[in-house]
Amino acid sequence: DELRGETNPNRGSRQVPGYAYSRVAPTPVADPHLLAWSDELAATLGLAHPPERGPAVDTLAGNLVLGSMKPFAARYAGHQFGNWAGQLGDGRAMSLGEITAPDGRTWELQLKGAGPTPYSRRADGRAVLRSSLREFLCSEAMHYLGVPTTRALSLVATGDAVVRDMFYNGNQRPEPGAIVARAAPSFIRFGNFQMMAATNELDNLRALADYTIRHHYPELGEPSPDVYLRWYEEVCRRTAVMVAHWMAVGFVHGVMNTDNMSILGLTIDYGPYGWLEPYDPDWTPNTTDFGHRRYAFGQQPQIALWNLARLAEALSPLIPQPNDLRAGFDEYTQTLAATRYDMTLRKLGLTPRNLAADQDLLNDLLDALTEAGADMTIFFRQLSHVAPALLAAPDAEATQEARFQELLVAAAYTPLPNPAYGPLLNWLPRYLDRLREETAGPDAIRQGMLAANPKYVLRNYLAQNAIEGAEKGDLSYLNRLFQVLKTPYDEQPEHEEFAAKRPDWAWDMPGCATLSCSS
Ligand code: AMP
Ligand code: MG
Ligand code: MG
Repeated sequence: DELRGETNPNRGSRQVPGYAYSRVAPTPVADPHLLAWSDELAATLGLAHPPERGPAVDTLAGNLVLGSMKPFAARYAGHQFGNWAGQLGDGRAMSLGEITAPDGRTWELQLKGAGPTPYSRRADGRAVLRSSLREFLCSEAMHYLGVPTTRALSLVATGDAVVRDMFYNGNQRPEPGAIVARAAPSFIRFGNFQMMAATNELDNLRALADYTIRHHYPELGEPSPDVYLRWYEEVCRRTAVMVAHWMAVGFVHGVMNTDNMSILGLTIDYGPYGWLEPYDPDWTPNTTDFGHRRYAFGQQPQIALWNLARLAEALSPLIPQPNDLRAGFDEYTQTLAATRYDMTLRKLGLTPRNLAADQDLLNDLLDALTEAGADMTIFFRQLSHVAPALLAAPDAEATQEARFQELLVAAAYTPLPNPAYGPLLNWLPRYLDRLREETAGPDAIRQGMLAANPKYVLRNYLAQNAIEGAEKGDLSYLNRLFQVLKTPYDEQPEHEEFAAKRPDWAWDMPGCATLSCSS
């Protein structure tokens, strides 16, 4: 109620000048039934596991709107692939409202795929099972990895078919529809502010900034021009921490448009994301981006900064000296560098020593990994076992080379020996020498490394296996995968299959390595 909402029963797609959001109603679906449920988030929210069908699931599918809910779709704009796109808005997401958890914190609960809104443009407001399952699983997987993210509570099949004209399988076939209920303290994006600034709705811009600060950054104090500056810096800081996490676990968002950037520094809008398998800064899973590779893995740090600059432009009408916002750029750059340095050292079991020498060691590793195209997750995970073991071994010199060879074979996508692996083989003994300078013992180093190098990440082919099962009505793979992803830093010997590198069959299959935006 602190923001201006449009009340208009018309569902038609339209421009909505003057408003921060539109009241909407979800469109009912044929046969809502529960496919997946996040017990942990539910416990946080104080919700009980619902039966497969019934009023709770009807609510999570938009078939039932409780009296306390005031569904709305947010109005936002954005830069898509670097180009200004004007008004976008929640075209297939609608928030049911906020719920207060038992611990007193409030969460916005949002349905994705519950039908058209004023912001749907020419699209249907629906989501297909494959994209909803991917969003559900990855939101939760990221949470368990310790990456700042929005959460997912439920995955509900609609019983309706959705048609997508897609690169996905080359033909138009009806696919099962599904709805994710996702949760976050707020889903406000950079694009919400850009919308108001672009249309010169400065009262709405200020109201949105004040709302965001009062509800989500209360520690900064009552909004004022000075507080806007400190708030912007904090958004920059949080965004840097989020991107550093992505880089540390090999996550590629895939569509870092400004409308997909959370004002809370959370990973938001899981679409054609992917996880690095062969280490490659130039890799993107998003086929829509194959030309420019704007959102490739290695681009993410600078794209986030570009997006923050667009946010700064949007906020500048609120700031007497807009140039002061530049302090946020420095905050971003410094936080990102410091956090990445820290996280990469942790992945290697190292504590800061000689900054320049350490940076050389880290940069050489990333170059060597790139040249080798080794599996990022497997390499770091194996290293977490091998390096401390060599520290502890009395005959380390003798076994060293053999252990390093084994490690590379485990992570390699090409047969060894292969000259591409030369730099990595040369790097390993250098690293081991540096590791020997650490004061911690091998066991402590191993524990630290295992806690920084996940064994299980949501490789695209794993998601694809879960999708194919679910599309046939078999949820067993999805359930097992979800369970494994809840403790990604633990060894789970009975679930080794979920740690396997991308299999041969998955290289060219859509959904397994590459995805398009259309979902
Ligand atoms: P995305 O690329 O998923 O971040 O979406 C960009 C914009 O397109 C947002 O405004 C979405 O709400 C909208 N959009 C994407 N898919 C659909 C759909 N199936 N129906 C309506 N709007 C959509
Ligand atoms: Mg989006
Ligand atoms: Mg999306």
